[in-house]
Amino acid sequence: MRVSIVLYTADLRLYDHPPLRAALDTADAVVPLFVRDPAVEAAGFASPNRRAFLDDCLADLDAALRERGGRLVVRSGDPVAEVCRVAAEADAGEVHLAAGYSGFAARREERLRSALEAAGRRLSVHDAVTVAVPPGLVTPAASDHFAVFTPYHRHWERVPPRPVLRAPRRVPVPDGVGGEPVPAPGGTTGISPALPPGGERRARERMTAYLRQGLDAYDSTRDDLAADATSRLSAHLHFGTLSPVELVHRVRRHDGPGAEAFVRQLAWRDFHRQVLAARPASAHRDYRTRHDRWRTERTAAADIDAWREGRTGYPVVDAAMRQLRVEGWMHNRARLLTAGFLTKTLYVDWRIGAAHFLHWLVDGDLANNQLNWQWMAGTGTDTRPNRVLNPVTQGRRYDPRGAYIRRWIPELTAVEGALVHEPWKLPAPARAALDYPEPIIDLADGLDRFRRARGKQQ
Ligand code: FAD
Repeated sequence: MRVSIVLYTADLRLYDHPPLRAALDTADAVVPLFVRDPAVEAAGFASPNRRAFLDDCLADLDAALRERGGRLVVRSGDPVAEVCRVAAEADAGEVHLAAGYSGFAARREERLRSALEAAGRRLSVHDAVTVAVPPGLVTPAASDHFAVFTPYHRHWERVPPRPVLRAPRRVPVPDGVGGEPVPAPGGTTGISPALPPGGERRARERMTAYLRQGLDAYDSTRDDLAADATSRLSAHLHFGTLSPVELVHRVRRHDGPGAEAFVRQLAWRDFHRQVLAARPASAHRDYRTRHDRWRTERTAAADIDAWREGRTGYPVVDAAMRQLRVEGWMHNRARLLTAGFLTKTLYVDWRIGAAHFLHWLVDGDLANNQLNWQWMAGTGTDTRPNRVLNPVTQGRRYDPRGAYIRRWIPELTAVEGALVHEPWKLPAPARAALDYPEPIIDLADGLDRFRRARGKQQ
């Protein structure tokens, strides 16, 4: 009997899954394997919110496999050693894996390939599983990746995504390959109280509902903080409970600016992955340094704490930072303005903000998080690296009625009209009655410091 292993990583689904399809087409039985890697935990990447979401995904994948006559095998340890062990136990000739695009994924793939080959087994790596257009498929003439989004997007749009694969009807799993119990959902402590549940079934329900009800208006509502009208599919894309290839196909069945704008965001996702794949160090180092001498925990501890805790005195910033803790998610416009506030107004190192986001975000993703932070800090791919977002102007524009602010800051619910964006302008007695902080910085001072810092380097 020919046996293959499918090593699951960030692709926790049955629908549109090239490694699983290839394994089923070429073998008589398949071991669907997930390995919990202590190195991921040690690196702090398995934060409580993402661990809880992952447990949901694993439980759901196991249930879906069982409906098809199979099951999920879960192990813990070094993934290379565990895969080799399972391959020996099941006498598997081939291991199928979705390509990953971080330095960590590249090293894991290389180690796995040489360990398997040494044992006379094969590793097959499949592209276009966790991205729509794989890194390296479109490149400019003089580089291995695009450093600017607009030309990348033009090329990306011309690549036809591969056809979508159906979910298998049956997944035969050989007997005799043991694993740990699949984690029961709900066992993680320290999570956000309004964390969404994970799993492919929920991902597909959400995708279908959004394509029907939200997509057409995406273009006009995506920046409206209070409307909360984006898809919220990011965690599903991060864990791979949804295929970006399938999503592109399904969105393109719709006409109009909503569908167009949405596909463009999926291109941003691929864009950041091709940057990270070509420059793995950009996860931690400036992609394009401006020689900043950032303020850090040592020099700006009180400002950083106020930012993290949502008490900077700038209502839209504070609302967003509180949403992050409660939901494990934050609106894209809010991510932009809170990141801009930390890096440009407070002039704090982008890595400090990125680490805080990675701790809380259920969609926390090395490529999207670090490179969006760098974009906002002006050390990344933004062609206007010194742009500064004014939190009051941003609040007025993207939350004109202040509904987002009042939703997340109960101290300000009683403040009427536009003053909710600038509570410091209330008459002194009304201001004193609010249990809400004064601004921790004068915006003009922040701007001055930033311009001086960047001006010196130009
Ligand atoms: P939608 O607006 O419905 O977009 C659909 C999908 O497109 C998203 O799910 C996401 O996969 C992709 N997408 C949307 N905007 C972007 C973008 N700017 N860059 C790359 N892909 C995008 N996204 C993450 O998935 N993980 C992160 O850790 C992350 N950190 C961020 C940090 C900062 C400072 C900023 C400015 C943005 C970050 N983003 C991150 C991008 C974006 O904010 C989220 O993807 C989006 O808010 C998720 O909500 P949604 O699924 O409703 O998005």
